[in-house]
Amino acid sequence: MQLVHPDALHFETPVESYWEASADPLGLSLSPLAGDASCDVAVIGGGFTGLSAALELAGRGVDVRLLEAGHIGWGASGRNGGFACIGSHKLSYGTMISRYGLEATIAFYNAMKDSVALVAENAERHGIDIWKTVSGEVTLAHLPNRMDEFRDDQRFYRETFGEENEVLSRGELVERGLAGPEFHGGLLGPVGFGVHPLNYVRGLARAAHAAGAGLHPRSRLLRWEESVGGHRLVTAGGTLAARRVIVCTNGYTPEDVSTRHAGRIIPALSSIIVTRPLSQDELKAQGWTTETLAYDSRNLLHYFRLLPGGRFLFGGRGGTDSSAAAAPAYRAFMTETFHRMFPAWKHAEITHYWRGFVCLAHDRVPYVGALDDRKTVWTALAYHGNGVAMGSWSGRAVARMMLDEGARAAMPGVVTRRLARFPLPAFRPLYLKGAYVWFGWQDRH
Ligand SMILES: Cc1cc2nc3c(=O)[nH]c(=O)nc-3n(C[C@H](O)[C@H](O)[C@H](O)COP(=O)(O)OP(=O)(O)OC[C@H]3O[C@@H](n4cnc5c(N)ncnc54)[C@H](O)[C@@H]3O)c2cc1C
Repeated sequence: MQLVHPDALHFETPVESYWEASADPLGLSLSPLAGDASCDVAVIGGGFTGLSAALELAGRGVDVRLLEAGHIGWGASGRNGGFACIGSHKLSYGTMISRYGLEATIAFYNAMKDSVALVAENAERHGIDIWKTVSGEVTLAHLPNRMDEFRDDQRFYRETFGEENEVLSRGELVERGLAGPEFHGGLLGPVGFGVHPLNYVRGLARAAHAAGAGLHPRSRLLRWEESVGGHRLVTAGGTLAARRVIVCTNGYTPEDVSTRHAGRIIPALSSIIVTRPLSQDELKAQGWTTETLAYDSRNLLHYFRLLPGGRFLFGGRGGTDSSAAAAPAYRAFMTETFHRMFPAWKHAEITHYWRGFVCLAHDRVPYVGALDDRKTVWTALAYHGNGVAMGSWSGRAVARMMLDEGARAAMPGVVTRRLARFPLPAFRPLYLKGAYVWFGWQDRH
């Protein structure tokens, strides 16, 4: 049983995504690690989390270098749906409150909101063209009985977080350009907007570089030696000696190299199709004319949005087989589902399809914190498919926590408690398959 097929670790080639086809160039000339080098803090992983950590550290004058196996943004950060929004947990708020307490849950919710604001701030401060869309995200009832849950959720958000959400009837969805045969109503929240994720991650890299961080793409960490004096990180081209290390590899975490992560995460595939640009008439024919971020109410949810320029992005889970041979079947499955949900666009060519790994944790919440007693190894990960905003926030948070003990106390306890090991980790592929079957059954009732 394999968690990740070697085909999925094609670090030398970019994924064939619409983002790769449309992104602004990085505009930096960066080199792989070569020879023997040293620094105070080494960051592993060049996505939102690693770059946000590097940006924060370099901005505070820390000598930091970052190792990335592929090009900058090669992982999930450069290939996601571009939903900058809240929701980086799979634990229900009810269980969260009983496990961590009301105060910690509210602090976590506020952190998620802050993380969305941070994406906009980063874009503004560092001049990144992120293709920001209108604010708001809507969950769409895929069964009529979900409307009662929406009304309960509306009350819960108001009373617990002071957040106002709107419950929309089927007719109101149509009026707002959010129509589809499977959508029986919606719950519209005010937080969240769309971004071009590869433009965003490249912009973070430029900012970190300008602040003084050493960025090394095509520098896969192959071996990690640890001694009392520090850490020695070995790549094909060189070695990096570092006093402290932050591992920001999320769904691509190499458990054989970063052994402190072993058995603690489940990489899960998410997949996306993108259409050719749709005309105004085609949009009207479907009744979907807005760029509002949208999901359906399934556990195994689909996420979708109209992109600036008129293409439509449709995403969902990507199966449990990450081999290249399995990809065409998932593409066909995604296309079939898309046609069922958006029948007016059956004729529109699908120009791009790709997959990538998100990261799940045993406790179903993100983790930001140290992994060793000496506090020389740190990590931030497990955003449960929702790390555009939370990865940015968590990368900055882990850097702050590493530098300042006081910062740890200020973090929401939900994310700092622990990164628990799964019981019988070898069975993680089965857990995932089992969860998909169970959630699929729930989604039909
Ligand atoms: C298809 C898809 C759609 C998604 N849609 C959304 C969305 O719309 N909104 C949202 O919020 N989130 C979404 N996500 C999740 C989001 O993209 C991730 O949570 C986020 O990008 C995680 O960022 P990261 O920097 O922690 O990890 P990543 O961006 O995955 O970066 C980890 C990096 O570590 C590198 N690495 C791995 N091993 C090594 C090694 N040995 N040495 C050096 N480097 C290494 C990898 O090359 C990779 O670039 C989606 C994910 C996928 C796959």
